[in-house]
Amino acid sequence: MKLLSVIVPCYNEEENVRDFYDEFCKNAEFFREKQIEFELLYVDDGSKDGTAAEVKKLHEEDGRVRLVSFSRNFGKEAAIYAGLQKCRGDLAVLMDADLQDPPSLLPKMYEFIEQGYDSVATRRVTRKGEPLIRSFFARMFYRLMNKISRTEIVDGARDYRLMTRQVVDAILSMSEYNRFTKGIFGWVGYETKWLEYENVERRKGETKWSFWKLFLYSLEGIIAFSTAPLTIASVMGVLFCLVAFGIIIVTIIRKLLFGDPTSGWPSLVCIIMMVSGVQLFCLGILGQYLSKTYMEVKRRPIYLVREETKTDADRD
Ligand code: UDP
Ligand code: MG
Repeated sequence: MKLLSVIVPCYNEEENVRDFYDEFCKNAEFFREKQIEFELLYVDDGSKDGTAAEVKKLHEEDGRVRLVSFSRNFGKEAAIYAGLQKCRGDLAVLMDADLQDPPSLLPKMYEFIEQGYDSVATRRVTRKGEPLIRSFFARMFYRLMNKISRTEIVDGARDYRLMTRQVVDAILSMSEYNRFTKGIFGWVGYETKWLEYENVERRKGETKWSFWKLFLYSLEGIIAFSTAPLTIASVMGVLFCLVAFGIIIVTIIRKLLFGDPTSGWPSLVCIIMMVSGVQLFCLGILGQYLSKTYMEVKRRPIYLVREETKTDADRD
């Protein structure tokens, strides 16, 4: 018998916990035929509503449901890491609690694992039901990211992914504090099959991502998987030196030939403003990398567990 671990990060998803369980079980027949058992591992990312209680209720009814509950909200990336660390399956799949990752796709995903792929990932080809401006910036982000990073990051990629134990262990071996999962998946490599599907809208509740949160997250991704901004800063410095050098030469020649020094302080003020702006911008870029390094060297834990359901293996 093989074991499939289903990892479900939840943040304030009390109304979706049971729906997800029901929906998953409806599609679980396939796995029974294939002689695959499953465990449903809900990772409660410090929810403020009754998510944990709801999962515990399910756990009482069905021992295959497990709960790991954080001491506070650590973010989805931390929840994914915890789920992968705590899961015991030969296979693991990451799914959102809001049913935006349709369980009906699982049999098809499993077929590719059987064919020898190490990991089966999904991407949505439409962004139906999402604000237009958000889709626009998302596209821009992926385009930029793929220009400046050597790690491939696929546009529209979801975290919905089925993978073998080998891939799970590879991801766990990347124990960095600033976790940009989409980049980590790309970085570890392995034979990955991409499946496409139409966007499904969230079942209940609201998205946990505001525009601002997404913007910060995209910066995190860029800094974690590319050092291009640092290069841009140096190149800009060199360019400015060259331009300044050219202007000095022109000014000297003009003075010698025509006795006409550049006049007026407005031009000077403009130049000072612009150059100091560029300097601050570059310092800011440096600061971003420094702050990430700072967080990284502190080696703080990625998450803290407040509560966890016991498994049969723990009891022995
Ligand atoms: N999530 C989480 N921690 C967070 C934010 C979100 O565990 O800090 C979970 C959330 O409960 C859901 C999944 O991550 O299961 C995706 O979140 P959401 O649906 O809000 O994002 P979207 O689908 O809009 O990108
Ligand atoms: Mg969602």
